[in-house]
Amino acid sequence: MPDPFEAERRAMVEEQLRRRGIRDERVLEAMLRVPRHEFVPAPFRFMAYEDRPVPIGLSETISQPYMVAVMTEAAAVKPGDKVLEVGTGAGYQAAVLATLGAQVWSIERNPRLAARAREVLSALGYDSVQVVEGDGTEGYPPAAPYQAIVVTAAAPSVPQPLLDQLADGGRLVIPVGDLQRQDLEVLTKHGVDTTVEVLDPCQFVPLIGRYGWTEEDRVRGYRNG
Ligand code: SAM
Repeated sequence: MPDPFEAERRAMVEEQLRRRGIRDERVLEAMLRVPRHEFVPAPFRFMAYEDRPVPIGLSETISQPYMVAVMTEAAAVKPGDKVLEVGTGAGYQAAVLATLGAQVWSIERNPRLAARAREVLSALGYDSVQVVEGDGTEGYPPAAPYQAIVVTAAAPSVPQPLLDQLADGGRLVIPVGDLQRQDLEVLTKHGVDTTVEVLDPCQFVPLIGRYGWTEEDRVRGYRNG
């Protein structure tokens, strides 16, 4: 069946990603292949390829395509890599990582979002993604160590369990800052040392959990923001 969104998806890749400096052809190709609209609930589907985060219900969002591309490029995933995503949301980022050949564990704290993402990913045949329900600030030890960890919610600081679960040479991509504004950081583990590179400024929904923000922080942040 023809895909009615194909032209919009191609325009997204060319205008929002390639023109803005995304260079990794594998990432561009993966984002051309993954049907982003299928991850967006029907009432918001017409916005699926817009240059912005899109609501997915339950006060959460699917990230802006450009931000997904920047994070995926920074994760430098190779076929066969084990990758942990923290913040499954709609499941879109997990599908992009799987399209690059990774084996993906994606953890989501909201059980309703986790169930919905699991359903969509399974219906679309993304068999190399496992959606786990829980607090991703603690990582997911059963499948560790990971060659890459991608955190798609804003952290006040880097959760130590995520660094501990990173393989040697692995990369942790994470927005770090306050509730209103963060910097996208890429931490690379070299034995006992870690190097940090700061990429773009960004604005993510909060990472809530043991090594993140509390629910009360979230309410206060939105009231002040
Ligand atoms: N990556 C998602 C996608 O492609 O659709 C978008 C993620 S959305 C911006 C952030 C998600 O992080 C929300 O679904 C939220 O419930 C989740 N989240 C926040 N804190 C979390 C935690 N401690 N563990 C797991 N998920 C968390």
